[in-house]
Amino acid sequence: MNISVKILIFMVAGAIVGTILHQFTGNSLINDYLINGLFHVGGKWFINALKMLMVPLVFVSIVCGVCSLADPKKLGSMSFKTIGLYLLTTALALTLALILASIVKPGDGMPLKEVSYQAKDTIPFIQVLINLIPSNIVEAFVEAKMLQIIIFSIIFGLAITYSGKAGEKVREFFMSLNEVVLEIVNIIMKFAPYGVFFLIAKTFASFDIQALLNGLLSYFILVIVALILHAIITYGSLLKIIGSLNPIVFFKGMWPAMLTAFGTSSSNATLPVTMRCVEKNLGVHRNTYSFTLPLGATINMDGTAIMQGVATLFIAQAYGIDLTAGQLAMVVLTATMASIGTAGVPGVGLIMLQGVLLQAGLPIEAIGMILGIDRLLDMTRTAINITGDAAVTAIVAKSEGEIDLDVYNDPVIHSNFEEKEA
Ligand code: ASP
Repeated sequence: MNISVKILIFMVAGAIVGTILHQFTGNSLINDYLINGLFHVGGKWFINALKMLMVPLVFVSIVCGVCSLADPKKLGSMSFKTIGLYLLTTALALTLALILASIVKPGDGMPLKEVSYQAKDTIPFIQVLINLIPSNIVEAFVEAKMLQIIIFSIIFGLAITYSGKAGEKVREFFMSLNEVVLEIVNIIMKFAPYGVFFLIAKTFASFDIQALLNGLLSYFILVIVALILHAIITYGSLLKIIGSLNPIVFFKGMWPAMLTAFGTSSSNATLPVTMRCVEKNLGVHRNTYSFTLPLGATINMDGTAIMQGVATLFIAQAYGIDLTAGQLAMVVLTATMASIGTAGVPGVGLIMLQGVLLQAGLPIEAIGMILGIDRLLDMTRTAINITGDAAVTAIVAKSEGEIDLDVYNDPVIHSNFEEKEA
């Protein structure tokens, strides 16, 4: 069976099993051995396995991508386009979120609950900038600091290219290493359906539906609707208009990665699968995606920006505070920064929301109001986050002539990750 279908089936099964088990959380056998035992351990194994690959995969594939660029100068035009499109899609995401939230007004009439939320540390944007250049590369690898690893890998790849004969040997070594790392991705993907099942079952078993019904339903639905609209309208039209690429083929090809993102709530952890989909199903060459995807998983969070936009207006409405046009513009600016600063791991988007609320002069404790239902939203926005990275990747690859259109347009989507015959 094709892997996307299999993951989907296991995901739905996980949701059903989790919802049923939610009724029995009082039973210590079910709670301790199944939900917090088997499901917890199984899910963590899957996430760990994906994360284990993250650093080697990013390092090796960027090095290979950069040193196999026919013209290293291409890197400049590629970065320019990629970062430009990442910013554009995030700004569009926020605009959509703010427009929808202003029309629907999900926070109006919201009974203000006693909420408590402990402020957590956020990373100031200036620090994100300073941290771009690693002072200690071993530390960057150990702590999986993605931006630093990306920068180091690019420099390393360029150095290989410019080192002539000695560089050639290193290049060959990295090319072989890359094959091996990709094989590990293959092995782990075999377990993806089970991993996703465990993660979803545990989430649904511990999910508090009551919090949703306590007036948060309209906020919840609005975020989901905005996420879906953004994917269809923004990515769909950018792919079609700028990239002349069929959006339906794109979404079909990205399906396994979207489901994995949904299960793991982490763009970083999903990265191996995103790379796999973009290469095998969309035909994007490594020189492009090896650079654009890790960067996107780190700085491009359209789904997170949408949540932050809707949440800010929702909280303002719930407190009966009218935001001026100037404040709204500030929200767009700070939420763009906040989403760039959001790490691709579960739940960080909500922490970064603090900065946006502060800027808009809204109470940070209000986050407590939406905390309870954020888990499910995190899953959905992560799926959009990685889809945005892939959409920009496909468009940039198209404009750089780095996409194999025969693979892209092949009706048989190779979501089972088998090598395509030439
Ligand atoms: N979980 C999200 C991601 O990894 C980040 C967030 O919004 O919390 O993409």
